[in-house]
Amino acid sequence: MPFTDILGHDRIVEVLRRSLRSGKTAHSYLFEGIPGSGRKKTALTLIQALFCTALPDDACGVCPSCRKIEGGNHPDIHQIAPLPDKRDISIEQLREMQRDLSLRPYEAPRKACIIDPAERMSVNAANSLLKTLEEPPGNALIILLTENAGMLLSTVRSRCQLIRFAPLSPEHVLSLLERSGMAPETAALVAPMSGGSLQRAMELDNESLTARREAVLSRLSQLTIHQIATVFDAAEELSGNRDATLELLDMLLSFFRDAVHLGAGNADIVNRSVRPAIESIATRRSFPRNLELLERIYETRRDIQRNANPKLALDHLFMALAEGVR
Ligand SMILES: [Zn+2]
Repeated sequence: MPFTDILGHDRIVEVLRRSLRSGKTAHSYLFEGIPGSGRKKTALTLIQALFCTALPDDACGVCPSCRKIEGGNHPDIHQIAPLPDKRDISIEQLREMQRDLSLRPYEAPRKACIIDPAERMSVNAANSLLKTLEEPPGNALIILLTENAGMLLSTVRSRCQLIRFAPLSPEHVLSLLERSGMAPETAALVAPMSGGSLQRAMELDNESLTARREAVLSRLSQLTIHQIATVFDAAEELSGNRDATLELLDMLLSFFRDAVHLGAGNADIVNRSVRPAIESIATRRSFPRNLELLERIYETRRDIQRNANPKLALDHLFMALAEGVR
């Protein structure tokens, strides 16, 4: 896949393409970011571009080398992950990789290796990698993927060029889901809940999510300060354990973000399939009030992450949501 297929990481792509053009790619990279943020895809595209026989700084997608990588069967790429039923990446796996890298490439100009997730390397395995990271045999390219660079030995970190991948925006997750063939209706439902991870978006169970979203929108539309029961009933029905409450808050964030977009005259929203309900959120309160509420939902989310009581936090939040409704 060409670099243009990678969404949301323009600056990273620019840095990598520049290094490809100048022939100065690093020996070893450390890609840090949440799973599903695009690290693996970027790693494979970097290798593809490095091996591509048609283009100097991108993957053409049609030469034999590009096609083999696309098909997952290029003989010069070595991928390492924990073996089935094993927690860690073992030193034996690393040794085998090192032997492989020391052989001449079959067809590519050099060999490449991806280690994912790098934080699962045993200490012995990580230590055995240090020399390889410094001087990869045969000029091989090594890319480590990790969720958190802080979980790796500092000696490993310092030998790699660190590149940080931010979580994807809901809009980018949405376009990637649509490109992958997911029905637009489903994609619009799961994208705002994905936390910026394409992987998580794909895993979300959209049936229970549809029901949940409808329940939340229905409760929101009934909130009024003149009938205080609507506030406490909503908090009672929608609060759950910590994770369920955080998920609810992600949903509210996505609704109010869209409502603020509409209020600012921007017609393009993420929750397209429930547009009338979002319009009603936008029009039942003033624009500044919706902005305040958006901030308020963020605060509630932070409080619950810091172990505030979910039910109490939601009581307060729903009270605020009911105030100032026209
Ligand atoms: Zn190519």
